[in-house]
Amino acid sequence: MIDSLYSIRMHAGSDGIHLSGAERIVAETDLERTAACLLRRAMTHGRGRAERVQITVDALDPETIGRGRLPDLRTVAVADYRQGRAAALDLLIEAGVAAAAARSAMEALASGAAPGGGVMRGAMLVDAGSGERLEPDRARGVRVSRMDLTAAAGQELRGRLQKAGLDNPHVREALVLAAKVLGAPGVVAELCWSDDPDYTAGYVCSAGQGYVRFPHLKPQGDPLGGRAFFLRPGLDPKALIDYLEGSALLVDEVGAVHGETNREVRA
Ligand code: AMP
Repeated sequence: MIDSLYSIRMHAGSDGIHLSGAERIVAETDLERTAACLLRRAMTHGRGRAERVQITVDALDPETIGRGRLPDLRTVAVADYRQGRAAALDLLIEAGVAAAAARSAMEALASGAAPGGGVMRGAMLVDAGSGERLEPDRARGVRVSRMDLTAAAGQELRGRLQKAGLDNPHVREALVLAAKVLGAPGVVAELCWSDDPDYTAGYVCSAGQGYVRFPHLKPQGDPLGGRAFFLRPGLDPKALIDYLEGSALLVDEVGAVHGETNREVRA
């Protein structure tokens, strides 16, 4: 029997620009404490002063909350972002993304995928065959929402990540997001690197390879980043967008966290 659960989401912005966002799924008794944590995060993220912070709380119907497992994580050592992007490209192709589609999505992220070369607030949707972009709004993209870990799974994950020196919010939150994306009908793979200028790591995630992290997918100091979700060729994205944005997922099983391996060079 699940307690009454709520989705609580924070969004901080300034002059219409997105600065930071975070979200949790918590019991009613944890709402106030969680709201205070999210507010603190909005006020201390270091990317400029937030002029508007919104905190939204929605009751969830327990019957509709899905359960899931995190993908296994491994890190592939790369010397710099060029090597990282080459290795990420190889993985996307192995996952079933056409080479030209993977390359053009990567170029879009590298040059700013929003109109005018800025950072999108959400993800690009890319047809894995043709490379066509399918998100209805190229500035907003598609925002994956309403996902979290159970308290027990969160603790277990932190223990496993600590052993690998990876217990930070970037990795924890990206793993949960990737779990929801990977479980979505019609998603072939995900590519991500952060828009945080000081965080150069990124990942490729797919059903076959799990979550493969690269310490460098962009140069230090680069403020551009984003996400691309590659969809089965020909898929109509409407149902997928509804699932990613609207359905709730509580992850209750943690995947393996492997140590660092060297890049496998293809023959
Ligand atoms: P972050 O890893 O938080 O630095 O986010 C990197 C990029 O991923 C952002 O610039 C957005 O384009 C995208 N992004 C962030 N959060 C989400 C989300 N909840 N759903 C989809 N895309 C996101």
